[in-house]
Amino acid sequence: EERENEGLSLSNITLSFGGVRAIAGLDLEIRPGEVHGLIGPNGSGKTTTLNVISGYYAPQSGEVRLGKMALPPGAPQRRASFRIARTFQTPRVIGAESALDNVKTGGMIDGRASFAESLLTLPRHRRDEADLHERAMRALTAVGLEALADVRADRLQHSELRFLEIGRALMLRPACLLLDEPAAGLSAEEIRRLGTLIKAISRAGTAVLLVEHHADLIFDICDRVTVLNLGKVLAAGTPAEIRSHREVVSAYLGA
Ligand code: ADP
Repeated sequence: EERENEGLSLSNITLSFGGVRAIAGLDLEIRPGEVHGLIGPNGSGKTTTLNVISGYYAPQSGEVRLGKMALPPGAPQRRASFRIARTFQTPRVIGAESALDNVKTGGMIDGRASFAESLLTLPRHRRDEADLHERAMRALTAVGLEALADVRADRLQHSELRFLEIGRALMLRPACLLLDEPAAGLSAEEIRRLGTLIKAISRAGTAVLLVEHHADLIFDICDRVTVLNLGKVLAAGTPAEIRSHREVVSAYLGA
């Protein structure tokens, strides 16, 4: 089915941990079809932002919306029904299950929901099972892992796990895909492949938020970039604008 995707927007999000203000009045908009880079020094609030969007943290103020719909704060297990998917800094897969079965659980396991819970959502009918199998194979193919469908996840290499997580996220047909440092630990060639994949996902209409330390990847593939500092937007714009932004260069890019 074709559904018009809507963008994700954060308005005036504030979140403190004890006395530490992790995010301070953050506005952010990720449009459908764009790759939006989120960068900033350590401790600037990038991971906290991802965790607010995916519902792990309920902010003290502000709203996360998908199109016109306000998302319930907290409630990470309900994000899948809004077609918000994510990957993690350290890939989270089920080692004893095949790559294919990991993908089949797509979106159901989001770090809090257990594998048992995700099994409850698997289809009971044969036709549903065949459909799920076909969709999972297509997702594996999209991320280049079709030849490894039957291999246990704990036999896969680190880079393969990164692509596997993206394949699993694709099972949601995500309106919004959150990627938490997907290039970490990948070779230059793998990063090129990752960049091409992320571009293709966004071009198909998904709003992609990319948290990444690898500056080349950010500047190569992002349509827009937001720079955080101390939980606030220091700058936002196209890669070219960000690269030549004086405060960004001195605070973050270190020139
Ligand atoms: P980044 O991902 O940009 O490195 P984080 O979002 O992890 O930044 O952290 C932002 C700030 O919030 C930091 O000062 C960090 O120490 C603090 N912080 C993040 N998560 C927690 C937490 N669970 N408990 C206490 N402080 C936290």
